[in-house]
Amino acid sequence: MRRFSFCDHSEILFDEERASLLSVKAEGEELLSSCLPFFALRFRNKKAETKDIDSFAFRFLKSEGDRFYYEHPLADVALSFENKEDKVSVFISVTNKTHDVLEWIEWGSVGIFGKLKDENGKGEILTSYNEGAVTSSFARREASPFPYLEPSYPSQGKFSIFPNMLCAQFIAYRVGEKGLYLAMEDPERGTKHIDFCSYGESIKLQLRAYSNLNYGEDYVSSFPLVIRPFHGDFYDACSFYRDWFEKHLPVGCQRSVENHSLPSWYFSSPIIAPYPIRGKFDTDKMDPNCFYPYENALPVLEKVSKETDSQIMALLMHWEGTAPWAPPYVYPPFGGVKEFSSFVKKAHDENVLVGLYCSGFGYTLESKLVPEYEKRKEYEENGLSRYMLSDSDGKIASTTCTPQRIGYDMCPYCEWVKETFSSEIEKCVSLGVDYIQALDQNHGGTGYFCYSEAHGHPPVPGKWQVEAVEDVLNRIRHPKTLLGCESGASEPYLGLLLFSDCRFNLNYYFGKPFPLYAFLYHEYLHNFMGNQVCETLSDDDRNYPLRVAYSFLSGDNLAVDLTDKGEVYVSWCNSWEKRQVKREIAFSILKNLNAWKRGLGKDYLNFGRMRKPLAYLTDGEEKFRCQDGNYLSFPSILSSSFEVDGRKASFFVNYTNTLHRVSWDEEKVVLSDPYSEKKTVASSFLIEPLTAIMVLE
Ligand SMILES: [Zn+2]
Repeated sequence: MRRFSFCDHSEILFDEERASLLSVKAEGEELLSSCLPFFALRFRNKKAETKDIDSFAFRFLKSEGDRFYYEHPLADVALSFENKEDKVSVFISVTNKTHDVLEWIEWGSVGIFGKLKDENGKGEILTSYNEGAVTSSFARREASPFPYLEPSYPSQGKFSIFPNMLCAQFIAYRVGEKGLYLAMEDPERGTKHIDFCSYGESIKLQLRAYSNLNYGEDYVSSFPLVIRPFHGDFYDACSFYRDWFEKHLPVGCQRSVENHSLPSWYFSSPIIAPYPIRGKFDTDKMDPNCFYPYENALPVLEKVSKETDSQIMALLMHWEGTAPWAPPYVYPPFGGVKEFSSFVKKAHDENVLVGLYCSGFGYTLESKLVPEYEKRKEYEENGLSRYMLSDSDGKIASTTCTPQRIGYDMCPYCEWVKETFSSEIEKCVSLGVDYIQALDQNHGGTGYFCYSEAHGHPPVPGKWQVEAVEDVLNRIRHPKTLLGCESGASEPYLGLLLFSDCRFNLNYYFGKPFPLYAFLYHEYLHNFMGNQVCETLSDDDRNYPLRVAYSFLSGDNLAVDLTDKGEVYVSWCNSWEKRQVKREIAFSILKNLNAWKRGLGKDYLNFGRMRKPLAYLTDGEEKFRCQDGNYLSFPSILSSSFEVDGRKASFFVNYTNTLHRVSWDEEKVVLSDPYSEKKTVASSFLIEPLTAIMVLE
């Protein structure tokens, strides 16, 4: 038995003979409920068959200090523990005794109580899923569209993979003020699976690194698995990771205030208006709608601009002249280059920015939306199947956007894919647009799993995936056009994808969004609210304002999905007619909040460093019913806090339709007009509906 103790009565007990963590105590409170295998391995052969073994199947050989040795007929494993700076860092090495490839290596697994706090259990879990998510009911998560899934081929866009749906390499659990932080502090930012799942009576917190190895090779971890009991909340857990992150910045990642390549609009807070020019939703009939010809949109956008007192970015969907959702070919625009370029020029003359939605690393054999669009001939004549993501046995399949297209996913490691994708995006750049959401469907920016032996990369996922995407993105010349992806860009791409399409709203399906992304990275980049695709919260007047408030407080740009009449609807893919938001509510909150981002709150909300929110009380709570019948509650006033050059400011938003009071335990300096320095000193303040205040420290 090995005991690792910390100064605040926290300790970790490791049973080296069983290879299992027996106990993790944070300030005396036990956080584990059962002993799980500490490590596990997956082997994969060329028939795409896999075999998993965990540490309970191993025989303990010996220990040398804090180094422990294990053996199994298939592999030998050595673990090395280091205890310093209030944490234990564990390295692992695996000797592969087979001819198979080691696909992933899991270590640091722990078993917590099998139910979380909202299901008569205890504690809650933070992951970096879709920019940050807190789960407080395991059962609800498992019944949601986003349950624990074992990653496999072909990939699904919702797997809990880094750098993909996960932006960061850690998971945290807390019971009240006692918590456990588990991280893979890997500066190379290779592929990982970080998630939690059912294991017997307990919930297992699980971190796996994909090996990047070839058949028969051994694995030696180049980074530690960090185990850290702590006192505090999830912001404290994020701080541990941010400290590490800032000592190991990804290549090209710099503070936005020092990044002179950013366009001026990045700091002028345009409101993003996603809309299609054909059809009304993803799988609608693709006939031109009221926004075509393109210029038809300008009067609508001008009105929105006036009503919100903000610049607008038109973010076009279904504009591809090939077929909507038919990657990799998107160019020329529907209606032709001349017509589109004329629209861009007129838009710019009217101070409207223009952005385009593309699709990621997909290959479309046949569009289901525009049946006459098909590329089977090109695919077959040029043998393009050799560039598609494949399983270990060479089989090719895809689950991406199957209602819209028949096709596959391309492997970005292949030269043909790199050239095809980058040249297609460069053609879009040549249209003079301001922004391209280039990697839709590739959440966070990464391509999906490929096990091909023919592409030149290791035959399992790993850091080669990141290197391939970086290479593709670095090839694209886009001096005045920003690029982004679906969900916030994951950590390796923070210097490359500087404005992305957030998906925090999906987290309401199984938990609540948490501003992990903004807390870690807001000084370096910000994103926009996203097209809000798929909405589970009840239809009422607070639904859209809640999400606007959340985005604003994360320091992101706001977004508004428009109907043809210039009305607002709740989220992309919901029918225009059925789920509208009252115009006066939508435009009031957009105008009132964006004024802070353009006015006195500008520095904080555009490039501030997020801090833990101030402690505050409100006089109300809002309940929302979700599609699954569960209710989510939020305070009637939401808040966040930022720091710039030693100056600190907090923002408080009342997103409801009634007055609400915020109060603090001491007097604060309150500003209630985003353009006036007039201050009030008070320990409580009434906030008007759909408005925000700023509090200085
Ligand atoms: Zn490949």
